[in-house]
Amino acid sequence: MVNSVYLDHNATTPLRPEALAAMTDALRATGNPSSVHRHGQRKRAIVEDARERVAELVGATPAGVMFTSGGTEANATALRSFAPGKILVAATEHASVLENVQQAHIVPVDRHGVVDLDTLERMLFAQDEPVLVAVMLANNETGIIQPIADVVDVAHRYGARVHCDAVQAAGKMPIDLGTLGVDSLSLSAHKFGGPMGAGALVFTPDARIRPLLRGGGQERRLRAGTENVPGIAGFGAAASAVGTLPDAVRLSALRSRMEQELGDSKDRGIVIGAGAPRLPNTTCLAMPGVPAETQVIAFDLAGYSVSAGSACSSGTVKKSHVLDAMAVDRKVADCAIRISTGWTTTEQDIISFISAWRGLRARHDTRSQPELISA
Ligand code: PLP
Repeated sequence: MVNSVYLDHNATTPLRPEALAAMTDALRATGNPSSVHRHGQRKRAIVEDARERVAELVGATPAGVMFTSGGTEANATALRSFAPGKILVAATEHASVLENVQQAHIVPVDRHGVVDLDTLERMLFAQDEPVLVAVMLANNETGIIQPIADVVDVAHRYGARVHCDAVQAAGKMPIDLGTLGVDSLSLSAHKFGGPMGAGALVFTPDARIRPLLRGGGQERRLRAGTENVPGIAGFGAAASAVGTLPDAVRLSALRSRMEQELGDSKDRGIVIGAGAPRLPNTTCLAMPGVPAETQVIAFDLAGYSVSAGSACSSGTVKKSHVLDAMAVDRKVADCAIRISTGWTTTEQDIISFISAWRGLRARHDTRSQPELISA
Protein backbone atom coordinates (compact mmCIF):
# COMPACT_ATOMS: atom_id res chain seq x y z
CA MET A 1 0.00 0.00 0.00
CA VAL A 2 1.30 3.48 -0.91
CA ASN A 3 1.94 5.80 2.04
CA SER A 4 0.02 9.04 2.43
CA VAL A 5 2.27 11.29 4.44
CA TYR A 6 1.76 15.05 4.38
CA LEU A 7 5.07 16.89 4.86
CA ASP A 8 4.08 20.25 3.37
CA HIS A 9 2.69 22.15 6.36
CA ASN A 10 4.32 25.42 5.22
CA ALA A 11 2.12 25.32 2.10
CA THR A 12 -0.98 24.75 4.18
CA THR A 13 -1.95 22.76 7.26
CA PRO A 14 -4.68 20.20 7.87
CA LEU A 15 -7.71 21.87 9.47
CA ARG A 16 -7.76 21.41 13.24
CA PRO A 17 -10.93 19.81 14.65
CA GLU A 18 -11.48 22.86 16.88
CA ALA A 19 -11.49 25.08 13.78
CA LEU A 20 -13.86 22.80 11.89
CA ALA A 21 -16.30 22.76 14.82
CA ALA A 22 -16.25 26.57 15.14
CA MET A 23 -16.73 26.97 11.40
CA THR A 24 -19.63 24.55 11.30
CA ASP A 25 -21.38 26.47 14.10
CA ALA A 26 -20.79 29.75 12.28
CA LEU A 27 -22.08 28.35 8.99
CA ARG A 28 -25.25 27.14 10.68
CA ALA A 29 -26.03 30.54 12.18
CA THR A 30 -27.89 33.02 9.96
CA GLY A 31 -27.20 36.73 10.05
CA ASN A 32 -24.87 39.48 8.92
CA PRO A 33 -22.58 40.82 11.68
CA SER A 34 -23.45 44.37 10.63
CA SER A 35 -27.20 43.84 11.27
CA VAL A 36 -28.61 45.19 14.52
CA HIS A 37 -31.10 42.39 15.10
CA ARG A 38 -30.39 39.32 17.21
CA HIS A 39 -29.32 37.18 14.25
CA GLY A 40 -26.77 39.79 13.24
CA GLN A 41 -25.56 40.24 16.80
CA ARG A 42 -24.99 36.52 17.16
CA LYS A 43 -22.69 36.63 14.15
CA ARG A 44 -21.03 39.77 15.51
CA ALA A 45 -20.29 37.92 18.75
CA ILE A 46 -18.54 35.14 16.78
CA VAL A 47 -16.34 37.69 15.01
CA GLU A 48 -15.44 39.56 18.20
CA ASP A 49 -14.69 36.34 20.09
CA ALA A 50 -12.31 35.31 17.29
CA ARG A 51 -10.72 38.77 17.33
CA GLU A 52 -9.91 38.34 21.02
CA ARG A 53 -8.42 34.90 20.42
CA VAL A 54 -6.23 36.10 17.55
CA ALA A 55 -5.13 39.14 19.56
CA GLU A 56 -4.17 36.87 22.44
CA LEU A 57 -2.04 34.65 20.17
CA VAL A 58 0.24 37.59 19.35
CA GLY A 59 -0.05 39.74 22.48
CA ALA A 60 -2.08 42.45 20.77
CA THR A 61 -5.25 44.30 21.70
CA PRO A 62 -8.44 43.23 19.86
CA ALA A 63 -8.76 46.79 18.51
CA GLY A 64 -5.50 46.26 16.66
CA VAL A 65 -6.69 43.18 14.76
CA MET A 66 -8.15 43.71 11.29
CA PHE A 67 -9.46 40.58 9.58
CA THR A 68 -8.47 40.04 5.96
CA SER A 69 -8.75 37.33 3.31
CA GLY A 70 -5.32 36.00 4.31
CA GLY A 71 -1.63 36.81 4.59
CA THR A 72 -1.38 38.28 1.10
CA GLU A 73 -4.05 40.90 1.74
CA ALA A 74 -2.62 41.71 5.17
CA ASN A 75 0.84 42.31 3.66
CA ALA A 76 -0.62 44.30 0.76
CA THR A 77 -2.60 46.51 3.14
CA ALA A 78 0.39 47.26 5.35
CA LEU A 79 2.70 48.04 2.45
CA ARG A 80 0.26 50.02 0.31
CA SER A 81 -0.76 52.06 3.34
CA PHE A 82 2.75 53.44 3.30
CA ALA A 83 2.76 54.56 -0.35
CA PRO A 84 4.30 56.74 -1.67
CA GLY A 85 6.89 56.43 1.14
CA LYS A 86 10.12 54.51 0.68
CA ILE A 87 10.00 50.80 1.53
CA LEU A 88 13.03 48.65 2.33
CA VAL A 89 12.41 44.90 2.07
CA ALA A 90 14.58 41.94 2.96
CA ALA A 91 15.75 39.94 -0.06
CA THR A 92 14.10 36.73 1.12
CA GLU A 93 10.57 38.11 1.62
CA HIS A 94 7.51 36.29 0.32
CA ALA A 95 6.10 37.35 -3.08
CA SER A 96 3.11 38.93 -1.32
CA VAL A 97 5.56 41.49 0.11
CA LEU A 98 7.92 41.86 -2.84
CA GLU A 99 5.10 42.24 -5.37
CA ASN A 100 3.16 44.80 -3.33
CA VAL A 101 5.95 47.37 -3.19
CA GLN A 102 6.17 49.66 -6.17
CA GLN A 103 9.88 50.19 -5.91
CA ALA A 104 11.46 47.77 -3.48
CA HIS A 105 14.80 48.71 -1.99
CA ILE A 106 16.30 45.34 -1.21
CA VAL A 107 18.13 44.69 2.05
CA PRO A 108 20.53 41.76 1.52
CA VAL A 109 20.81 38.70 3.75
CA ASP A 110 24.01 36.88 4.68
CA ARG A 111 24.81 33.30 3.60
CA HIS A 112 22.82 32.03 6.58
CA GLY A 113 19.75 33.86 5.30
CA VAL A 114 19.80 36.45 8.09
CA VAL A 115 19.16 40.09 7.22
CA ASP A 116 22.33 42.19 7.09
CA LEU A 117 21.82 44.73 9.87
CA ASP A 118 24.87 46.84 8.95
CA THR A 119 23.62 47.32 5.40
CA LEU A 120 20.13 48.06 6.72
CA GLU A 121 21.58 50.75 8.95
CA ARG A 122 23.58 52.25 6.07
CA MET A 123 20.45 52.30 3.89
CA LEU A 124 18.44 53.99 6.64
CA PHE A 125 21.19 56.53 7.30
CA ALA A 126 21.06 57.59 3.64
CA GLN A 127 17.28 58.30 3.70
CA ASP A 128 15.79 61.70 4.26
CA GLU A 129 12.13 60.69 3.90
CA PRO A 130 9.74 58.42 5.88
CA VAL A 131 10.71 54.78 5.56
CA LEU A 132 8.98 51.46 6.17
CA VAL A 133 11.14 48.36 6.68
CA ALA A 134 9.50 45.01 5.85
CA VAL A 135 11.22 41.93 7.28
CA MET A 136 9.53 38.57 7.79
CA LEU A 137 9.68 36.72 11.09
CA ALA A 138 10.30 33.27 9.58
CA ASN A 139 10.94 32.23 6.00
CA ASN A 140 8.55 29.88 4.22
CA GLU A 141 11.24 27.99 2.27
CA THR A 142 13.99 27.63 4.87
CA GLY A 143 12.29 28.35 8.21
CA ILE A 144 15.07 30.86 9.01
CA ILE A 145 14.04 33.25 11.79
CA GLN A 146 15.03 36.90 11.47
CA PRO A 147 16.29 38.96 14.43
CA ILE A 148 13.23 41.22 14.33
CA ALA A 149 13.90 42.96 17.64
CA ASP A 150 17.34 44.04 16.27
CA VAL A 151 15.76 45.15 12.98
CA VAL A 152 13.26 47.24 14.96
CA ASP A 153 16.06 48.68 17.08
CA VAL A 154 17.94 49.92 14.03
CA ALA A 155 14.80 51.05 12.20
CA HIS A 156 13.37 53.03 15.10
CA ARG A 157 16.75 54.73 15.65
CA TYR A 158 16.24 56.29 12.22
CA GLY A 159 12.54 56.99 12.69
CA ALA A 160 11.50 54.18 10.34
CA ARG A 161 8.45 51.94 10.83
CA VAL A 162 8.56 48.15 10.63
CA HIS A 163 6.09 45.68 9.13
CA CYS A 164 6.64 42.00 9.80
CA ASP A 165 5.20 39.09 7.81
CA ALA A 166 4.61 36.58 10.60
CA VAL A 167 2.54 34.20 8.45
CA GLN A 168 4.92 31.24 8.74
CA ALA A 169 5.94 31.92 12.32
CA ALA A 170 2.49 32.01 13.91
CA GLY A 171 1.62 28.81 15.71
CA LYS A 172 5.22 27.58 15.41
CA MET A 173 7.00 29.97 17.77
CA PRO A 174 5.88 32.48 20.40
CA ILE A 175 4.95 35.90 18.99
CA ASP A 176 4.39 39.01 21.05
CA LEU A 177 3.68 42.28 19.28
CA GLY A 178 5.11 44.33 22.15
CA THR A 179 8.31 42.29 22.48
CA LEU A 180 8.93 42.33 18.73
CA GLY A 181 8.32 46.07 18.70
CA VAL A 182 7.01 46.10 15.13
CA ASP A 183 4.30 48.48 13.98
CA SER A 184 2.31 45.77 12.21
CA LEU A 185 2.37 42.07 11.45
CA SER A 186 0.53 39.68 9.14
CA LEU A 187 -1.12 36.37 9.97
CA SER A 188 -2.81 33.65 7.92
CA ALA A 189 -5.15 31.07 9.46
CA HIS A 190 -4.42 28.18 7.09
CA LYS A 191 -0.76 28.07 8.11
CA PHE A 192 -1.61 26.86 11.62
CA GLY A 193 -4.68 24.68 11.42
CA GLY A 194 -7.28 27.27 10.48
CA PRO A 195 -9.08 27.62 7.15
CA MET A 196 -7.80 29.14 3.91
CA GLY A 197 -9.12 32.60 3.11
CA ALA A 198 -8.84 34.10 6.60
CA GLY A 199 -6.01 36.21 7.96
CA ALA A 200 -5.31 39.39 9.85
CA LEU A 201 -3.25 42.52 9.89
CA VAL A 202 -2.31 43.20 13.50
CA PHE A 203 -1.09 46.69 14.37
CA THR A 204 -0.20 49.12 17.13
CA PRO A 205 -2.31 52.25 17.75
CA ASP A 206 0.31 54.41 15.99
CA ALA A 207 0.57 52.30 12.81
CA ARG A 208 -0.42 53.97 9.57
CA ILE A 209 -3.13 51.73 8.05
CA ARG A 210 -5.17 52.77 5.03
CA PRO A 211 -7.97 50.67 3.52
CA LEU A 212 -7.17 48.64 0.45
CA LEU A 213 -10.86 47.85 -0.11
CA ARG A 214 -13.42 50.63 0.19
CA GLY A 215 -17.18 50.28 0.48
CA GLY A 216 -19.04 49.35 3.66
CA GLY A 217 -17.80 50.38 7.07
CA GLN A 218 -16.66 46.95 8.27
CA GLU A 219 -13.50 46.46 10.34
CA ARG A 220 -13.68 50.05 11.63
CA ARG A 221 -13.71 51.31 8.04
CA LEU A 222 -10.31 49.75 7.40
CA ARG A 223 -11.51 46.81 5.30
CA ALA A 224 -14.83 46.95 3.49
CA GLY A 225 -16.85 43.83 2.73
CA THR A 226 -19.07 41.47 4.71
CA GLU A 227 -16.85 39.48 7.04
CA ASN A 228 -15.99 35.84 6.24
CA VAL A 229 -17.55 34.76 9.54
CA PRO A 230 -16.99 30.99 9.23
CA GLY A 231 -13.37 31.60 8.21
CA ILE A 232 -12.86 34.07 11.04
CA ALA A 233 -14.44 31.64 13.54
CA GLY A 234 -12.06 28.87 12.40
CA PHE A 235 -9.14 31.30 12.57
CA GLY A 236 -9.99 32.19 16.19
CA ALA A 237 -10.39 28.54 17.20
CA ALA A 238 -7.06 27.60 15.60
CA ALA A 239 -5.35 30.55 17.31
CA SER A 240 -6.51 29.28 20.71
CA ALA A 241 -5.58 25.68 19.84
CA VAL A 242 -1.96 26.56 19.04
CA GLY A 243 -1.65 29.06 21.86
CA THR A 244 0.46 26.80 24.03
CA LEU A 245 2.73 25.55 21.20
CA PRO A 246 2.80 21.98 22.53
CA ASP A 247 4.28 20.68 19.27
CA ALA A 248 7.45 22.76 19.04
CA VAL A 249 9.68 20.46 21.12
CA ARG A 250 8.37 17.29 19.49
CA LEU A 251 8.73 18.63 15.95
CA SER A 252 12.17 20.02 16.67
CA ALA A 253 13.33 16.55 17.83
CA LEU A 254 11.92 14.92 14.68
CA ARG A 255 13.63 17.48 12.51
CA SER A 256 16.99 17.02 14.25
CA ARG A 257 16.75 13.30 13.74
CA MET A 258 16.05 13.64 10.02
CA GLU A 259 18.76 16.25 9.49
CA GLN A 260 21.35 14.28 11.45
CA GLU A 261 20.63 11.14 9.48
CA LEU A 262 20.36 12.62 5.98
CA GLY A 263 22.77 15.54 6.29
CA ASP A 264 25.75 13.29 7.09
CA SER A 265 28.63 12.51 4.77
CA LYS A 266 27.30 9.02 3.89
CA ASP A 267 23.96 10.29 2.62
CA ARG A 268 25.40 13.54 1.25
CA GLY A 269 22.27 15.56 1.94
CA ILE A 270 22.82 19.28 2.47
CA VAL A 271 20.69 21.13 5.00
CA ILE A 272 20.30 24.75 3.89
CA GLY A 273 20.11 27.41 6.58
CA ALA A 274 21.37 25.15 9.38
CA GLY A 275 23.64 27.95 10.62
CA ALA A 276 20.75 30.23 11.63
CA PRO A 277 17.88 29.96 14.11
CA ARG A 278 15.00 28.19 12.36
CA LEU A 279 11.40 27.18 12.88
CA PRO A 280 11.17 23.75 14.53
CA ASN A 281 9.17 22.26 11.64
CA THR A 282 11.08 23.24 8.49
CA THR A 283 13.97 21.61 6.64
CA CYS A 284 15.32 22.78 3.30
CA LEU A 285 17.26 19.73 2.15
CA ALA A 286 19.30 19.28 -1.04
CA MET A 287 20.01 15.91 -2.63
CA PRO A 288 22.84 16.96 -4.95
CA GLY A 289 22.49 15.55 -8.45
CA VAL A 290 18.72 14.99 -8.25
CA PRO A 291 16.62 17.98 -9.43
CA ALA A 292 14.00 19.16 -6.93
CA GLU A 293 11.15 18.55 -9.38
CA THR A 294 12.28 14.95 -9.88
CA GLN A 295 12.35 14.45 -6.13
CA VAL A 296 8.92 15.96 -5.58
CA ILE A 297 7.37 13.66 -8.19
CA ALA A 298 9.24 10.59 -6.97
CA PHE A 299 8.30 11.25 -3.34
CA ASP A 300 4.70 11.90 -4.34
CA LEU A 301 4.52 8.55 -6.13
CA ALA A 302 5.92 6.93 -2.99
CA GLY A 303 3.26 8.67 -0.87
CA TYR A 304 5.11 11.69 0.58
CA SER A 305 3.94 15.24 -0.12
CA VAL A 306 6.88 17.66 -0.04
CA SER A 307 7.58 20.77 -2.08
CA ALA A 308 10.34 22.08 -4.34
CA GLY A 309 12.46 25.02 -3.27
CA SER A 310 12.56 26.34 -6.82
CA ALA A 311 9.51 27.39 -8.79
CA CYS A 312 8.49 26.31 -12.25
CA SER A 313 7.00 28.96 -14.50
CA SER A 314 6.17 28.75 -18.20
CA GLY A 315 8.15 25.58 -18.62
CA THR A 316 11.38 26.98 -17.19
CA VAL A 317 12.80 26.19 -13.79
CA LYS A 318 13.54 29.37 -11.89
CA LYS A 319 15.98 29.42 -9.02
CA SER A 320 14.41 30.24 -5.68
CA HIS A 321 15.00 33.94 -4.92
CA VAL A 322 15.45 32.95 -1.27
CA LEU A 323 18.31 30.52 -1.93
CA ASP A 324 19.70 32.95 -4.51
CA ALA A 325 19.82 35.73 -1.91
CA MET A 326 21.73 33.36 0.39
CA ALA A 327 24.24 32.71 -2.42
CA VAL A 328 23.52 28.98 -2.33
CA ASP A 329 25.34 27.28 -5.21
CA ARG A 330 22.92 26.88 -8.13
CA LYS A 331 23.66 23.15 -8.38
CA VAL A 332 22.66 22.72 -4.74
CA ALA A 333 19.67 25.09 -4.90
CA ASP A 334 18.19 23.26 -7.89
CA CYS A 335 18.21 20.05 -5.88
CA ALA A 336 16.65 21.45 -2.68
CA ILE A 337 13.23 20.41 -1.43
CA ARG A 338 11.24 21.65 1.57
CA ILE A 339 10.02 19.23 4.18
CA SER A 340 7.66 20.90 6.65
CA THR A 341 5.93 19.09 9.49
CA GLY A 342 3.05 19.92 11.81
CA TRP A 343 0.51 18.71 14.30
CA THR A 344 -0.43 15.61 12.28
CA THR A 345 3.18 14.45 11.71
CA THR A 346 4.23 11.29 13.55
CA GLU A 347 7.62 9.79 14.34
CA GLN A 348 6.81 6.96 11.91
CA ASP A 349 6.22 9.51 9.13
CA ILE A 350 9.76 10.79 9.58
CA ILE A 351 11.35 7.35 9.93
CA SER A 352 9.73 6.15 6.71
CA PHE A 353 10.55 9.40 4.88
CA ILE A 354 14.22 9.01 5.84
CA SER A 355 14.26 5.58 4.27
CA ALA A 356 12.40 6.84 1.16
CA TRP A 357 14.97 9.61 0.79
CA ARG A 358 17.82 7.09 1.05
CA GLY A 359 16.04 4.86 -1.47
CA LEU A 360 15.87 7.66 -4.03
CA ARG A 361 19.48 8.63 -3.34
CA ALA A 362 20.66 5.04 -3.85
CA ARG A 363 18.65 4.52 -7.03
CA HIS A 364 19.89 7.74 -8.47
CA ASP A 365 23.48 6.86 -7.59
CA THR A 366 23.25 3.53 -9.40
CA ARG A 367 21.25 4.60 -12.44
CA SER A 368 21.51 8.40 -12.54
CA GLN A 369 17.90 8.42 -13.74
CA PRO A 370 14.67 9.70 -12.20
CA GLU A 371 13.06 6.62 -10.71
CA LEU A 372 10.17 5.50 -8.61
CA ILE A 373 11.09 4.75 -5.05
CA SER A 374 9.74 2.37 -2.53
CA ALA A 375 9.85 2.70 1.20
N1 PLP B 1 3.73 35.24 3.69
C1 PLP B 1 4.35 34.05 3.77
C2 PLP B 1 5.70 33.99 4.42
C3 PLP B 1 3.76 32.90 3.26
O1 PLP B 1 4.41 31.73 3.33
C4 PLP B 1 2.49 33.01 2.65
C5 PLP B 1 1.84 31.82 2.05
O2 PLP B 1 2.49 30.92 1.54
C6 PLP B 1 1.86 34.26 2.60
C7 PLP B 1 2.51 35.35 3.13
C8 PLP B 1 0.51 34.44 1.97
O3 PLP B 1 -0.51 33.98 2.82
P1 PLP B 1 -1.95 33.61 2.22
O4 PLP B 1 -1.83 32.28 1.57
O5 PLP B 1 -2.85 33.56 3.42
O6 PLP B 1 -2.34 34.70 1.30
